[in-house]
Amino acid sequence: MKRFATILFGLLLLLGLSLALYLGGAEEWFRSEPPVTATLYDIDADGEVELVRWNLGDSMVLWRWDRDADGQHELVAYDALVGGDGILSPAGRITAWDWGANSVIDDGEVPAQVEAFVQQESIAALLAAPPQGEVALVGADIQKLAADIATGYDEWRLSGFRMPIVGSKLPDLRTLLPGAPRAYRNGVHQGFDFMPGHVGVPTGYSAPAVAAKGGVIMRADIDYTEMSPAEYQAAIATAQGSGSTPSEVLDQLRGRQVWIDHGAGVISRYAHLSGIAAGIVAGHRVAAGDIIGFVGNSGTESATQGGRNGAHLHYELRIDDRYLGEGMATDDIRELATRIFGLGE
Ligand SMILES: [Zn+2]
Repeated sequence: MKRFATILFGLLLLLGLSLALYLGGAEEWFRSEPPVTATLYDIDADGEVELVRWNLGDSMVLWRWDRDADGQHELVAYDALVGGDGILSPAGRITAWDWGANSVIDDGEVPAQVEAFVQQESIAALLAAPPQGEVALVGADIQKLAADIATGYDEWRLSGFRMPIVGSKLPDLRTLLPGAPRAYRNGVHQGFDFMPGHVGVPTGYSAPAVAAKGGVIMRADIDYTEMSPAEYQAAIATAQGSGSTPSEVLDQLRGRQVWIDHGAGVISRYAHLSGIAAGIVAGHRVAAGDIIGFVGNSGTESATQGGRNGAHLHYELRIDDRYLGEGMATDDIRELATRIFGLGE
């Protein structure tokens, strides 16, 4: 027991990742392979269940530590695959290792790598060279396990966020949320518009926007030049002539931007900024709450004419190749965002 705790503590130090509580819910946005090589987190409120996860390209081997009915720790592992649809799905057999009995508790075959891990010979070496091939494990509800892990992973990587405008609430209009149509550019809204009068605090031109979570600045349009009215009209015409807003046009229409990489495939995008805070340059690390820029209307028609109309923060949370709220109903977006940004209570 003590040794087990020590190993877990060592893993925590090794990975440098904090534990996140499993809060329930079943968001199904487990998409493509995450950029992390290993993850450790708690998916159980009682702190008993720990998980280590390796990314092995197309194939992932997932491990779960748990206590079984007799109170002994056991190691559960299985292969998981990310299918063409980007959804995590289990593959391979399941087996369990009973920590207390120091034995396999079913007839599955335990690969040498699993035995080495169980014997705690060298966790660091294992992390550097994770096991390959089929890991056989039986004895758990693999679908539930996979769902728990996918949910737990998202809970972990979407934890610690706050609103990008201090003291604000979610926009009160559906048209200001992700998924709202944007007919003028033949597209769909991908973020949250913090429009003055709709988010509970002043958010007009020059209002500060803050880092919703710590991370590394991956883009800061310090040398941004506004489009001319003709360039703006050309961009709109291109969008209107396409089936949807082309990504390069969308990027133009977001104006002056700051992007923050929060890790694990999660990125914040701030758009239409009037200015960028001193010291905010690509590669700079920010903490949650640091001012990154100032509300504006860059990338809008008014800005191309030298005006300040329509100033608002457009904030977008990217998760892998999706935006937060993509494909979701309005009520679900509100419920999810309320949870992620720590609103509500
Ligand atoms: Zn917007």
